[in-house]
Amino acid sequence: MEDFNTGKYIEQRLQRAMAFLGPLRPGFVDFLTSPKKSTIVNFPVQMDDQSVRVFRGFRVLHSHVNGPGKGGIRYSPDLTYAEISALAALMTWKCALINVPFGGAKGGVCCDTKSLSENELRHITRRFISELGDNIGPHTDIPAPDLYTNEHTMGWIYDTYDIMHPGRNNRPVVTGKAIDLGGSLGRHDATGQGCLYATLRFLERIKPAGMKNLKNQRVAIQGYGNVGSAIARLFQNAGAIITGISDSQGGIYSEKGLDLDAINTYKQKNNTVVGLAETMSITNEDLLQLDCDILVPAATSHQIHHDNADKIKAKLVIEAGNAPVTPEANEILLSKDIIVMPDILMNAGGVTVSYFEWVQNNENQQWSLAEVNQKLNDKMVQATDIVISKWLSLNEMIIESNTKEQDEDKAKQLPVDLHTAALVVALHRLTVTIEERGIWP
Ligand code: GLU
Repeated sequence: MEDFNTGKYIEQRLQRAMAFLGPLRPGFVDFLTSPKKSTIVNFPVQMDDQSVRVFRGFRVLHSHVNGPGKGGIRYSPDLTYAEISALAALMTWKCALINVPFGGAKGGVCCDTKSLSENELRHITRRFISELGDNIGPHTDIPAPDLYTNEHTMGWIYDTYDIMHPGRNNRPVVTGKAIDLGGSLGRHDATGQGCLYATLRFLERIKPAGMKNLKNQRVAIQGYGNVGSAIARLFQNAGAIITGISDSQGGIYSEKGLDLDAINTYKQKNNTVVGLAETMSITNEDLLQLDCDILVPAATSHQIHHDNADKIKAKLVIEAGNAPVTPEANEILLSKDIIVMPDILMNAGGVTVSYFEWVQNNENQQWSLAEVNQKLNDKMVQATDIVISKWLSLNEMIIESNTKEQDEDKAKQLPVDLHTAALVVALHRLTVTIEERGIWP
């Protein structure tokens, strides 16, 4: 049985990429991997029934080599420090790959939002932010939405920080805010929009399994939160047929394509997509194994693993969530010629528009939606192109060395996946910056 541990996952991904980075100074890898600063707080909250409950919260600043820390705050009952710390490392790589001047960070509170009232959630958020104190700030570490947090949560974060630091422009302390509070147009859909831009560019350039664009491609999406629902709508507008969708309760399937308006109305009323008329109910596991062209895991980590990877039938897997495919599963998919498009590229649209929001807040500006989306498209296309170039060049190198290898006993090198190529680009940028800055003092 594979060990689903995000820390181990980060290490495995890193090790594979390191092989292509060239020699580094001794100890350099430790510097690249160790989180710079970790804050763990336990704090009391008065609940609606007047009882007191203690919550645990984390904020990990993984790296500030490229700029202030950046990354979401998630609310989830089974959050651990190890998970948050690994996700903070992913943010460092993502920001380096998409080339925004931020380091990486992540945070969260162990709580189940479904069993909490809005009042309790507001108290948890305010108390958590006050406990973090100056560990966050407009030029030190900037939170954003993540699993089970949204623009309301970001509004409370902004308000709390602003009350703690009166007399200055505090809007850039957090991104993903409501538009009235200085949020950016386009931020709500940014992760889905970025995913669409990168997918279209990849299909146009590589044409995997003959797919030149999204027209008539059958798409299955796991997760129907902010990211999954935006992807469903945007991919459908680009011509795809959304045949399967799931959420935490299960999934639905329709061979001729799902009616997204009907899903949205149904989900709002019933809190799930399961049971919608004229659809077939399936399990989350069935959804992953659907006969489709593109599979989009847009939910939690480690969904495609050693035990189910062999049953995936899609030709392309797009990682819209963070770390949905384990390293072992990645190898299995690679051996079946299924291409996996990596999370640090495919969901980087969110942090990219977060960066745009931060710039607008610092300059007291409001860009139009067209301007935001144009800039997002430019960033996603540039990053996709550089990952494709690295992927092609690393594979050429491997084919060359496999052909030169005369000794039959020596194992041939496996082809390089897009994950590794993306990480090589990100790590190269980080190592160059570290060397240029030097190690202080
Ligand atoms: N939580 C998102 C992510 O994992 C967005 C982070 C941000 O905008 O800072 O990429």
